[in-house]
Amino acid sequence: MFKIITKADVLLFLVLLAVGAGSLVSAAAGRTDTGYAVISRGSTVILSHPLSEDCAVYLYPEEEPVVVPGADDWHETAPGRTEPAENVLLIQNGELRMAWSTCTNQICVNTGSIRETHQAVICLPHRLSAEIRERSGAGGVDAVSY
Ligand SMILES: [Zn+2]
Repeated sequence: MFKIITKADVLLFLVLLAVGAGSLVSAAAGRTDTGYAVISRGSTVILSHPLSEDCAVYLYPEEEPVVVPGADDWHETAPGRTEPAENVLLIQNGELRMAWSTCTNQICVNTGSIRETHQAVICLPHRLSAEIRERSGAGGVDAVSY
């Protein structure tokens, strides 16, 4: 009886160890592999957001981006607002796409989803770019040095 309990305890311990190690590994992988969506207006970075965290980013002219967690339930208009955003960017499952834009050419929307480092979605009429970088883009020169 004592021996069986010991075996079960050892098994439980091993399972917990494996789960713990697994989550550590995936956490580390998430930090290095998925990168950041770096959103700029003109030459100014206005938002840097990890691709591992789903969200909808609502962009209004001359305003700070409105970031809403989760990307399934996005709208053309940010929560609490009455007028549609100029652009709505979605980060979902490690991908980035322009879901909505009021621009005339719709090139940004038609670009579709990107997920590789250095790819970008650009909305020229709104001087907006959303680029995938390995690191947060807030650090300027640091963003391109390794
Ligand atoms: Zn556009």
